[in-house]
Amino acid sequence: MAKTDFGPPHYRDMLPPLIAENYGKWRYHTIPQPGVLKHFSESGAVITSVRAASPRLVSTDFVRDLCDIADKYCDGHVRFTTRHNIEFLVSDESRVDPLLAELAAKNYLVGGVGHGISNIVHTQGWIHCKSAVTDASGLVKSVMDDLHDYYTGKRTLPAKLRIAVACCVNMCGACHCSDIAIVGIHRKLPEIDHEMASKVCEIRSTVASCPTGAIRPNPKLKSIDISDDKCMYCGNCGAVCPAINTMDPETDGLSIWVGGKVANARTTPQLSRLAIPYLPNNPPRWPEVTEAVRNLVEVWGARAKPGERFGEWIGRIGWERFFDVTGIAFTGKHIDDFTHATASFRTTTQFRF
Ligand code: SF4
Ligand code: SF4
Repeated sequence: MAKTDFGPPHYRDMLPPLIAENYGKWRYHTIPQPGVLKHFSESGAVITSVRAASPRLVSTDFVRDLCDIADKYCDGHVRFTTRHNIEFLVSDESRVDPLLAELAAKNYLVGGVGHGISNIVHTQGWIHCKSAVTDASGLVKSVMDDLHDYYTGKRTLPAKLRIAVACCVNMCGACHCSDIAIVGIHRKLPEIDHEMASKVCEIRSTVASCPTGAIRPNPKLKSIDISDDKCMYCGNCGAVCPAINTMDPETDGLSIWVGGKVANARTTPQLSRLAIPYLPNNPPRWPEVTEAVRNLVEVWGARAKPGERFGEWIGRIGWERFFDVTGIAFTGKHIDDFTHATASFRTTTQFRF
């Protein structure tokens, strides 16, 4: 087939030669020091990956710097993990220490492996998206500034801890399956500029954009109406019709969810559940959110058994006790009264083939 410029290149074309030669033969890895993973193949080959934090939204200068480092120590082989950690793949073991020294000299945070916090995955935020409640990158920076000792391995935790941020409930980040997730929430009915809607919005696609069927056409105004009973304030419609405004600096806020995970070790994968329904969206440093996240990390860190993920710990002690020991108030907002709650109660993320 002819080569086109659509889509990314096939990943196998980008593998370091040592990984390609040993494809399917990698047996296990060790963690000789924070941020360093040593992978062993059954052929006897060894490759080291060195992990460093990235702010996710990066400048071209930053990427050029990464590429220069990768050219120098890894024959150009560098990748980003799904949580935006940078991983340098070093085939020549003698280059690992010089690479670590250069990363330290350039103030890269090395870490994010094993029983600690990995890079915080997050969404676009005000910098790009149409329905963002918050500046996801700034929020992540504030939380990580507070918790980076858990990234670099200066402080350890009972198990790995994945934190995610999504700037609205559409949740482009991995919030539904992270140990601790911060989710931006709109809290009032979208406002409609009917005159503008009649001129610029395609009514059918606006109606179709609503996942809860809350939008109906208003033929009289050549616009739409939104039902307060059905709307969950997701902001989806605002992306389709610019005459709909879902944002309100007074009422928008942040919620915190806990206990999600992707791994099927010990228990099935878990969906995150609501812990804190509302915290103020308070840029530029979000003190309420950073304090709440730190509290969750420290309480779980002090009480979980070795290897016990956040949701597994809650499963063992029970939700009542969780609210008790974290000091979080249990409110009516914690009760899932969503129309499809019966189905969601019974749902896991376990896939069977
Ligand atoms: Fe946009 Fe929502 Fe995704 Fe944030 S989570 S990038 S606001 S759709
Ligand atoms: Fe529907 Fe979401 Fe718009 Fe509400 S905010 S009307 S739920 S698309």
